[in-house]
Amino acid sequence: MKVLLVGAGLSGAVIGRTLAEAGHDCRIIDSRSHIGGNCYTERDPETGVMMHVYGPHIFHTDDEEVWNYVNRFTTFLPFQNRVKTTSQGAVYSLPVNLHTINQFFGKTMRPDEARDFITEIADTSIEEPQSFEEQALRFVGRDLYEAFFKGYTEKQWGCSPTELPASILKRLPVRFNYDDNYFFHRFQGMPRDGYTPMIEAILDHPNITVELETSYEPAMADEADHVFWSGPLDGFFDYRLGRLGYRTLDFERFTHEGDYQGCAVMNYGDRDVPYTRITEHKHFSPWESHEGSVCYREYSRAAEPDDIPYYPIRMVEEKSLLSQYVELAQATPGVTFVGRLGTYRYLDMDVTIREAMDTAGSFLSGASMGKTMPTFIKSPL
Ligand SMILES: Cc1cc2nc3c(=O)[nH]c(=O)nc-3n(C[C@H](O)[C@H](O)[C@H](O)COP(=O)(O)OP(=O)(O)OC[C@H]3O[C@@H](n4cnc5c(N)ncnc54)[C@H](O)[C@@H]3O)c2cc1C
Repeated sequence: MKVLLVGAGLSGAVIGRTLAEAGHDCRIIDSRSHIGGNCYTERDPETGVMMHVYGPHIFHTDDEEVWNYVNRFTTFLPFQNRVKTTSQGAVYSLPVNLHTINQFFGKTMRPDEARDFITEIADTSIEEPQSFEEQALRFVGRDLYEAFFKGYTEKQWGCSPTELPASILKRLPVRFNYDDNYFFHRFQGMPRDGYTPMIEAILDHPNITVELETSYEPAMADEADHVFWSGPLDGFFDYRLGRLGYRTLDFERFTHEGDYQGCAVMNYGDRDVPYTRITEHKHFSPWESHEGSVCYREYSRAAEPDDIPYYPIRMVEEKSLLSQYVELAQATPGVTFVGRLGTYRYLDMDVTIREAMDTAGSFLSGASMGKTMPTFIKSPL
C-alpha cells in the first residue's frame, strides 16, 4: 500500500520503518528542514557541543523491546540525569531525597527518622486534596512545598498550583535515601552521537522517502491508501473549532568558556527568577570534551499560534475542546492520529516508540484481515 506519514519525528519514523520492512511504500513529509521532530540534535558550530535543540532529551525506559529497538539503530552510552535546584539561596539535589531534606532542615536524619519527620510536618488537616497545592502540602508540608514545588510549578504552568489538579502529584514526591537518579527506569542512556543519526538510521530503508520543508496538503491524502498524522490534532482540521492549549518554551542561548554550572540541569525554584532551569548541553555527553560550553535558559509561557507546541495543558477547558476534535477525527476515514501532537498527550520517547510499534502492528494485522485501521490506537481522552 501507499502510506503517507505526516511528521518525521519518532512516531513517523518508527511507523514508517515497520511498514517499509513489511513491503509498504512510505512517504514521510515534515514541514521542518530536518528529521527527528523535537528529538533533533545537532553540533553547535562554534563549540562542537552536541545540542538538544528543542530541549534536553534523556532516554529512559522499562520496556526491553523498545530499548532493543533503539539500540539496533545507534550506540547508547550510559547516562543518568542528576538534577540540581537553586532555591532560596542554596543548591540542593533533586528529586527531593534524604540529602535534600537533611540539608534543607540542617539535620542528619536516617531514612526512618526522615520519614517520621516528614509525616509530622505534612499538613494532615487536608483530608481530600483538591489541588496540586493541597496535595503537595499534605505530602510534604509548607516549607518543602514552597522551596521545591510552588515557584517552579507556577513558572512551568503559568498558573497557581491551587488551579492545577491534585492528580499531577500522584505519589509522595520524596525519597528517603540518597538516590538522586532522576528516573527510576531499568534502561537509561544517551545516544553517543545524538538522536538525529539514530532517527536517520530508522528512516534509512529503500521503501521510505522523506521530504523535508513540505507541509501537509489535503490533496496528498488522495494519493495515499492511508495517512498517519503526527502533527497537531487540531491542526489537521485547520483549528476550525479553536486551538488546543499548549505551553511553549523559549530558549535563551549563551556560551561560556569551561564549565558554567557543573551539571546538565539546574532548576530554579524561586518565583523571582523568571526562567525555570538552565541546561548545559555538554554535560549530556560526558564522554566528550569541549573547552567551550553552550547553555539554554529555559522560559515557559502559553503557546501562541506561531509557537512550537510543547506541553499539552489538558485542563477542563481543553478536554472539552479535545472531545470535539476526537469526534471530528473519528468521522474522518483513512487517517490515524499518532504521537504526542496527534493525540494531545505528553509522551516520553519510549512511550512514543512503543505506541508507534503497536500502531504499525495493528495496521499490518488489520490489513492482512481486511479490517479498517482505527482513528486512534490510544484514545486522547
Ligand atoms: C521540552 C521537552 C523535553 C523532553 N524531554 C524528554 C526526555 O528527556 N525523555 C523522553 O523520553 N522524552 C522527552 N520528551 C518527549 C519527546 O520529545 C517526544 O516523545 C517525541 O518528540 C514525540 O515524537 P513525535 O514524533 O510524536 O512528535 P514530534 O517530535 O513533535 O514530531 C512531529 C513532527 O511533525 C511535524 N509536523 C507537524 N505538523 C506538520 C504538518 N502540517 N506538515 C508536515 N509536518 C508536520 C513537525 O514538524 C514534527 O517534526 C520531551 C519533550 C519536550 C517537549
